Amino acid sequence: KCSSPAQTEFYQAVEEVLSSLEPLLETNSRYQQQAIIQRIVEPERQIMFRVPWVDDNGNIQVNKGYRVEFNSALGPYKGGLRFHPSVNAGIVKFLGFEQIFKNALTGLPIGGGKGGANFNPKGRSDSEIMRFCQSFMSELYRHIGPNCDVPAGDIGVGAREIGYMFGQYKRLTGRYEGVLTGKSLLWGGSLVRKEATGYGTVYFAEYMLDERGDNLQGKRCLVSGAGNVAIYAMEKLYQLGATPISCSDSAGTLYHEGGIDLRLIKRLKEEQRCGLDEYLDIYPDAIHTPVADYPKDGHAVWRYVADAAFPCATQNELTLGDAQALLANGCQLVSEGANMPTTHEAVDAFLAAGIAYGPGKAANAGGVATSQLEMAQNASMQTWTFEQVDLRLKQIMKNIFISASDTAKEFGQDGNLVLGANIAGFRRVADAMIEQGVV
Ligand code: NDP
Repeated sequence: KCSSPAQTEFYQAVEEVLSSLEPLLETNSRYQQQAIIQRIVEPERQIMFRVPWVDDNGNIQVNKGYRVEFNSALGPYKGGLRFHPSVNAGIVKFLGFEQIFKNALTGLPIGGGKGGANFNPKGRSDSEIMRFCQSFMSELYRHIGPNCDVPAGDIGVGAREIGYMFGQYKRLTGRYEGVLTGKSLLWGGSLVRKEATGYGTVYFAEYMLDERGDNLQGKRCLVSGAGNVAIYAMEKLYQLGATPISCSDSAGTLYHEGGIDLRLIKRLKEEQRCGLDEYLDIYPDAIHTPVADYPKDGHAVWRYVADAAFPCATQNELTLGDAQALLANGCQLVSEGANMPTTHEAVDAFLAAGIAYGPGKAANAGGVATSQLEMAQNASMQTWTFEQVDLRLKQIMKNIFISASDTAKEFGQDGNLVLGANIAGFRRVADAMIEQGVV
């Protein structure tokens, strides 16, 4: 029953989860008796607030801020903050809803939440970003804490923004505590957190291929996005002997036949924060396709011949037309670094074709899992080495793969990791909710 018709992405996410829960709900009446579905689709709490700030010209700007505390059955709310002009209540709810099951799949004690603002960081100076982050935290601080809600980064929120928000939290509360993850390594961050989502997505792909007697060595891979997740997915692909041949940003797609020069991408995106078209200044043989020239039914990034695809930019960036093009070009694997990047119809096309398909809530859970490892280090006042954290990340991704894969088999749908991940995540949360009573 649709009570918030404008929240398209939220309904899309709920529909995907509920449709794959059918085999579980048919055989387990207790979830219906306990009204788990009605309770789980309703956030425990939604906070919406005004974020006023002053730009460099002395003008007052006002944005909308959000934090959705969706489900705390398994632990403190955990999930990122997104700063992007497209952010609205429906986007934050879809992300928070997905986060519940993703966090459950990690096996770690974390509940689901998400937040952000419709703020566009593009073209803003460092001091504007700082003033925005301080204003955002001036309201958010009263709702969060190391044992109740621990936000992290997402699109538009990296170490710089986390730093400004942490500084403001500390000033307002007088407490130095692990209230945010994705912090700088200088003051409480965890090694591997920056790399974790991208690395984890590639580890997940390797586990999917391993089950099919294959691996990533020598594979040509399409990657979308050129932010935190995409960059470290490309880095891990190179480390495992594969070649990323594309990436993209909000302005267009870059294709480089011989392999993307990752050092250059890091410089363009992490340091200079500029567009991918500047890559052509160094490599005139690469191809840059602006968004205006994308195919009508999809995105240029998925129209090249490749063995595997890693969507790492944003939601609904891989359409049915894109899926058909990938399959026609021989693509054998899709592992999602982004949240819900593949439309419903495109997911169905991948499942029907029987290729290895890793849905975001399983394949990109490495980021939040490593955030929880950051919380554990903060709480115990310890710092673990890169190798220690990376080893745990790998093990967590393996466990997620096994859990989704075994659950799919249990329900007679071998290889359907969408169904496996949704049921495995749901069962853990629902069982905890039942044990905690009607709250
Ligand atoms: P970043 O902001 O670092 O990078 C996002 C990238 O995607 C940028 O290259 C950006 O382009 C591009 N992009 C963003 N919005 C659009 C759009 N509407 N159309 C086309 N391109 C777009 O974000 P992350 O890398 O952190 O996040 C990427 C995805 O991964 C998101 O779906 C996020 O929810 C998901 N995710 C992130 C995690 C993390 O740990 N960071 C954890 C789990 C999931 P431009 O450079 O032009 O801005």
